[in-house]
Order: sequence, then C-alpha cells, then structure tokens
Amino acid sequence: MRAAIIPAVHGPWEVKEVPTPEPGVNQVLIKIHASGLCYTDVHLTEGAIPAQFPLTLGHEPVGEIVAVGEGVTTRTIGDRVGVPWLQASCSRCEWCQRGA
Ligand SMILES: [Zn+2]
Repeated sequence: MRAAIIPAVHGPWEVKEVPTPEPGVNQVLIKIHASGLCYTDVHLTEGAIPAQFPLTLGHEPVGEIVAVGEGVTTRTIGDRVGVPWLQASCSRCEWCQRGA
C-alpha cells in the first residue's frame, strides 16, 4: 500500500510503498479515503512529540473496513468508518464515566 512516511526525526516526508498490515485481535484494517495532516505531524517530524520512526503521517482518517481481526463483532467489511484522535482512555475519570 502507499503511505506518507516520516523516515526519521527531521526527515523529509515521503510517499512510498509499505507492507499492508494485517489486523490483529480486536482490530480492523481500513482502506483510507481521506486523512488529515496538520501541525501535529510537523511536531512529530521535529521530534517535539516522542515517536518511533519510520512513522506513517496523518490522523483522523475516514475510509472503508477491508479486513477484520479475531474478536471483532461490532464492525464488518464494507463499513464506512472514521477514526478519532483519541483511541483509548482511562475508563475511570469523570469524562470516561459519562461516555464522553
Ligand atoms: Zn478518562
């Protein structure tokens, strides 16, 4: 698949072919139709936000599920989905307890 990559801290952004990942347990594989790029990607490139490189650019994408991993019961192939910036939370604080 093609992906926009930061090869290393302070490295130039590159669009290149990378291996297509397989969804793991409770994961889905999404064919991305559109994705945001913003100053967070610049902060990642400049090392202001710790990250492991090479790193795929972009976040908050929308697309279509093309594969589901073991244990996935709430999504299916063909579903149109969006991915929020926040993908995990503490489950204990006031906001989590309210489902926010
Ligand atoms: Zn929380």
